[in-house]
Amino acid sequence: MKHFLLFLLLPLTLLAHMNIAVSYPYIGAITKAIGGDHVDTVVLAKGNWDPHFVVPRPSLIAKMRSADALIMNGGQLEIGWLPPLINRAANPKTQTNAKSFLNLSHNVVLLHKPQNVDRSGGDVHPDGNPHFHLNPANILVLAKRIEEFLISLDGEHRTIYEDNYAAFSAEWTKNMEVWKDTMADKRGKKVIQYHDNLAYFNDAYGLQSVGTIEPLPGIPPSSRHTLELIQLIEREKPCCVLHDVYHSTKTAEFISEKTGIKVILMPHDIGALESIEDLKSLFDYLTGAIK
Ligand SMILES: [Zn+2]
Repeated sequence: MKHFLLFLLLPLTLLAHMNIAVSYPYIGAITKAIGGDHVDTVVLAKGNWDPHFVVPRPSLIAKMRSADALIMNGGQLEIGWLPPLINRAANPKTQTNAKSFLNLSHNVVLLHKPQNVDRSGGDVHPDGNPHFHLNPANILVLAKRIEEFLISLDGEHRTIYEDNYAAFSAEWTKNMEVWKDTMADKRGKKVIQYHDNLAYFNDAYGLQSVGTIEPLPGIPPSSRHTLELIQLIEREKPCCVLHDVYHSTKTAEFISEKTGIKVILMPHDIGALESIEDLKSLFDYLTGAIK
């Protein structure tokens, strides 16, 4: 009899434990913070990869097949790699019209929506800038949306998700005060970037992005654009080049040799650098990096 009861309970326990696929590590961290013991997260892209250009390899298809739900960044960040994975995995739970699919970009206003997009020109930000998670205030918005999403899938554990969100929100709000203080005297500083990864970070702390090493989002540097950028640096006197971890720093170093500008590596996600183990260390690092 005992064994029979255990057998009956087993599928319920398995159901209560959701396996959630997410496109990027930062989404995994928020989902785990809100879902706690009731969710397992499967992160598809690594934090030190270019988020625009992930290779949809077979191991990722297998991960999608076993998922009960899928949370993506959206805003076209995954356009080159996630739709083929969704198609090939053919998992009804991770289709974009499923109740168990969530597109986070629908909850934030995208910055820098281009007036005219020439896709043939290769602009990878046609809907606006999709790197919205680098404003810490947006992390709270996304955490709230993920709380609602988890409740919609598993209402039985509503209070657990609500409590986890409340704890996360209280802690994050305290951290945001510290980051705001650290960044207070950086307001108005001019910066150059390789790719406009930090649009929302700059917006949050009043940094002024005056140029990018890429002529357009997703387009590699050209010598003409680099020479123009050197002139711009001499004119505008930005403090530094904020560089992502996954593009070569060759052009940035060349520009630095010509102008004396500092090059600072800025991680964009958990795992982008070895020391970035969670969301807090990501923002601790970013807010401490600009001297
Ligand atoms: Zn981008």
